[in-house]
Amino acid sequence: MRALYCAGRGAADMHEASIALSLIDVASEVLREHGAARASALTVRVGQWSSVVPEALTAAFPACAAGTGLEGARLSVVTVPGVGECPVHGRVTLDVTRGLRCPECGAPTPTLLAGDELELDELELVEPDLEDV
Ligand SMILES: [Zn+2]
Repeated sequence: MRALYCAGRGAADMHEASIALSLIDVASEVLREHGAARASALTVRVGQWSSVVPEALTAAFPACAAGTGLEGARLSVVTVPGVGECPVHGRVTLDVTRGLRCPECGAPTPTLLAGDELELDELELVEPDLEDV
């Protein structure tokens, strides 16, 4: 019942805990596909505009990974800046403190071209052979 265990860590962590669990699900699927039992590290891309707090995700991860193939794996979070499309300036990197607006002219850029992702980028597998040593 790792879901309950994670959720029991407090309301503030629940969001990141559920995200950690879904990442672990995705990673576990990759492990299965490669016939690997465990991973030693994983890299996750988190958009600056997703609602995920990287620190909270990193904090929630170890407890959520306990008992899975990701137990003890090192989690690295890569932050992806937001990119919007200004009618005047084209693709612009957004400033989170200013909202969905072009940092040059302030025009609204309601569409995020990047920066709201949350995805598994890399997974370092532990070779089954090495495990028995
Ligand atoms: Zn602009």
